Amino acid sequence: MAMTCDICDRIGERLRADHDEGEELPPEARKLVLRDEQPYSTDILQCPSCGAWFTSEYRCDNDIYSPIHVSELVRISADKARETIEWRKNRDREDRREYLRRLRKKLGHGVGELSEEEARVVDHLVRRSGHGGQNLPDLEKFCGLAPAAMGEVLARLESRKIIERVVSMPAAPRPEDDPRNFTMLYLNRRA
Ligand SMILES: [Zn+2]
Repeated sequence: MAMTCDICDRIGERLRADHDEGEELPPEARKLVLRDEQPYSTDILQCPSCGAWFTSEYRCDNDIYSPIHVSELVRISADKARETIEWRKNRDREDRREYLRRLRKKLGHGVGELSEEEARVVDHLVRRSGHGGQNLPDLEKFCGLAPAAMGEVLARLESRKIIERVVSMPAAPRPEDDPRNFTMLYLNRRA
């Protein structure tokens, strides 16, 4: 079955760019859509034109004698992509349950049940917990929630002390600075 695709034919089965050698991924690589973000590991991307799946990894080591800065895209099967995404979702759900157990112990009272949307937000923050928090626009994007819906979800989670919000505007904000970009959401760091 010979398939051609304007976007991912250029990527092939595997494409590696060694940035220390001045190499860059081709512009087509930026057109792939992020489907599953994994801090410190492989992201999963999909070609918006033909639906093909890829893992994407950026390896970085700032050793002064042998620095490594390499981006790599690897084509994977649709089954493998779906399996990996499902596996990570289950792991996040387990990590969320563990986090809520710890939080209940700290707070000394229940935090109640999470709605489906609330769980989506907490799962995302759990996945990023070793990586700091998540800024508001990206949180909306990754959780698939519109700003109004997200506003309500965050308010409910904050009032139950499940998450925390930190807004840190620059000392001299420019008129075009959107406070949303400086709004970070975290799990309750006392848990
Ligand atoms: Zn494609």
